[in-house]
Amino acid sequence: MTARLIKGDEVAEEVRAEISSELKDLYDGTGYVAGLAVIVVGENPTSLAYISNCEKQGEKMGISIQVHRLDQNISQEELLEIIEELNDDFFIHGIMIQMPLPEHLDHKVIVETIDPDKDVEGVHPITMGKLFSDEKSFIPCTAHSIMKMIEHTRQPVYGKSAVIIGRSNIVGKPLSLLLLRRNASITICHTGTVNLPDICREADIVVAAAGTPYMVEGNWIKQDAIVLDVGVTQVEDKMVGDVNFQECREVASWISPVPGGVGPLTITMLMWNTLEAFRKKMDRI
Ligand code: NAD
Repeated sequence: MTARLIKGDEVAEEVRAEISSELKDLYDGTGYVAGLAVIVVGENPTSLAYISNCEKQGEKMGISIQVHRLDQNISQEELLEIIEELNDDFFIHGIMIQMPLPEHLDHKVIVETIDPDKDVEGVHPITMGKLFSDEKSFIPCTAHSIMKMIEHTRQPVYGKSAVIIGRSNIVGKPLSLLLLRRNASITICHTGTVNLPDICREADIVVAAAGTPYMVEGNWIKQDAIVLDVGVTQVEDKMVGDVNFQECREVASWISPVPGGVGPLTITMLMWNTLEAFRKKMDRI
């Protein structure tokens, strides 16, 4: 059997419709619109393309996007000042800082300066702590996107075994907590893992988020498993994933492609978090 495709655009479309409708209701009720500030430092073409995509998608859903395009040589103090101003801005409900930042800027200090109530990327330590303690919090967008894609398959998660390849703070670790909430049993794998193929062969759900092209082979996958490919690496002129798609699709029941899988959903989930931040603020006025 050939696996069914989990297409990010299809899932994103459903979520976008939900966001637009909720934003409209909130506007009708309060007269305010949600505001997202996006900060980008320097001229990295991939970052600028991502930001312009954010602008388009956000405006389409009814979110006011305020982009701060900052000079590559901006000082740490100047950047912190801008974040503080955005923290105090009544019309801004979410703050997103495009990574990577230039080396002279201290990523940790910058992230910790964001007001946790506006931390729509879910990267502030307070937000992470809440996620860890199962409190309501912003969920990092990529991990949230992967959960949405798993939900889209309508396959049960309860009692299933899930293997996540990659332990980053924005993907592997938060995803493990989200799957744990749904009563899956989780194994997080990384560069120190011994015998990764055998571990994957036991899994009902395999999430590859390593950034190592084509590493997951068809013979690593259990019959009818769900396979999510998060990795994106540019190889010559193509973006490729961590999964050998042709091999794995012959064994899996569902599989996400690259491109066209998780990628299209991440901006949508950023807007979802902005809606959450906006709703919380409106509840308080
Ligand atoms: P990272 O790049 O910070 O770290 C990679 C992780 O994978 C590490 O934990 C490492 O131990 C593990 N790893 C790397 N090679 C491995 C191997 N051969 N075997 C086992 N483990 C291995 O992680 P990240 O920031 O989560 O990014 C991972 C990948 O996901 C990258 O390709 C990135 O571009 C992609 N990504 C895509 C999206 C999207 O929107 N589609 C979003 C975020 C990240």
